[in-house]
Amino acid sequence: MHEIVILGGGTGGTLTANRLRRAYGRDEARITVVDQDDAHVYQPGLLFVPFGLTQPEDIVRPRGRQLHAGIEYRTVGVDHVAIDRREVVLSDGATLPYDVAVVATGSVLAPEETEGLTGPGWMERVFTFYTSEGAGALEAALRTFDRGRLVVNVVEMPIKCPVAPLEFCFLADWFLRERGVRDTVDLSYVTPLDAAFTRPVAAQRLGGMLAERGIELVTEFNTGEVDGAGGRLVSYDDREVPFDLAVVVPAHNGARCIARSPGLGDELGFVPTDVHTLQSTAAPEVFAVGDAASLPISKAGSVTHFEGEVLVENVRRFLAGRPLDASYDGHANCFIETGFHKAMLIDFNYEVEPLPGHFPGGVGLPLMKESHLNHLGKLMFQWVYWHSLLPGRDIPGIHSAMPTAGKRQPSHT
Ligand SMILES: Cc1cc2nc3c(=O)[nH]c(=O)nc-3n(C[C@H](O)[C@H](O)[C@H](O)COP(=O)(O)OP(=O)(O)OC[C@H]3O[C@@H](n4cnc5c(N)ncnc54)[C@H](O)[C@@H]3O)c2cc1C
Repeated sequence: MHEIVILGGGTGGTLTANRLRRAYGRDEARITVVDQDDAHVYQPGLLFVPFGLTQPEDIVRPRGRQLHAGIEYRTVGVDHVAIDRREVVLSDGATLPYDVAVVATGSVLAPEETEGLTGPGWMERVFTFYTSEGAGALEAALRTFDRGRLVVNVVEMPIKCPVAPLEFCFLADWFLRERGVRDTVDLSYVTPLDAAFTRPVAAQRLGGMLAERGIELVTEFNTGEVDGAGGRLVSYDDREVPFDLAVVVPAHNGARCIARSPGLGDELGFVPTDVHTLQSTAAPEVFAVGDAASLPISKAGSVTHFEGEVLVENVRRFLAGRPLDASYDGHANCFIETGFHKAMLIDFNYEVEPLPGHFPGGVGLPLMKESHLNHLGKLMFQWVYWHSLLPGRDIPGIHSAMPTAGKRQPSHT
């Protein structure tokens, strides 16, 4: 009987547990999922809350209900992992011994790390849409905002879903136009990156889309202070961006339980992980999936999904004493909502930039191009998330390995 303990019951923990439950009979493996709370939020839905397009209560479900029968679910915090003793220590002092542990504890927001961010003005004129509470409060503020400077700021990288703040800008532009007040609002996107996005081809396209909409792009701005009372972002090199309403994506760290686990995490609390097998570099019995893994690819649900397929295969190989499958290629896939009922789709991996063409083959969703079809795809994804991705079902035509069919080099466009 293998003991498999999964830390975290979010996107990665849930889909991994469900796939493993299918792979092993109940007499072959005991699978335990531990999470500190019982509210599974469909996080991509948070983007729509500030614009009144969905409600926080419509994107949350109980965690335990997303897990297949035969998976033990414990609602308790993880205190730390003792990799030398191969046990997970829970916040109530109990311990869970493991043959394999899967770290799926995601990333945590650290707004308190930025001077002033949670001080005067927090949740009054300074908000984040990265939490249900923040997204709900921002909805009320945006509804009546009709003049002044609206600033969207990423404090530092890495963040979950690096395109989400850009999507927020595009939706804000649409929303303000719909309300007839766009002419009296200046909209700025303030990022620590040297361009609108991390990958050059997509950065150029997205930067162009910001310019077309009259959204100012401020780059290489490392936010040192958010002065809510004075309405200023201040960078470490003393540049200032004034605002009347600020939408801030705070710094992200790995889960605190990883930082408390001797030898397991890096300085931010993310788990150094083999980029192709998803085995942690600290201990062979520990694997990492999703935002918790320190990998050179976006922190995104799609990445978590694609990693999950390879990770489950590797847990099985590891427990059977077989060589691991080094096939995870960094596949990432993001719908970028662009307003006016359109969205763009990008698909890329460690090596290949987002390219134009179609996904997942010659016929399919347009890549790097705004379309209504992609918007419908983005909306439909919530159903796919609850009914296919989390239960660990294969989604036809969508696999861990990045498809190349249907893609064109930019010079051919
Ligand atoms: C606003 C927003 C928009 C997004 N949009 C998209 C999108 O369009 N497309 C996309 O692909 N991705 C998107 N994402 C990112 C996506 O939601 C995450 O990358 C994905 O959920 C990561 O899954 P995970 O399992 O690693 O982490 P999570 O799903 O966050 O799960 C981590 C779990 O670990 C638990 N945990 C942490 N510490 C402990 C502890 N000490 N003890 C017990 N449990 C613990 C947490 O409670 C949590 O349930 C978005 C995210 C946000 C915030």
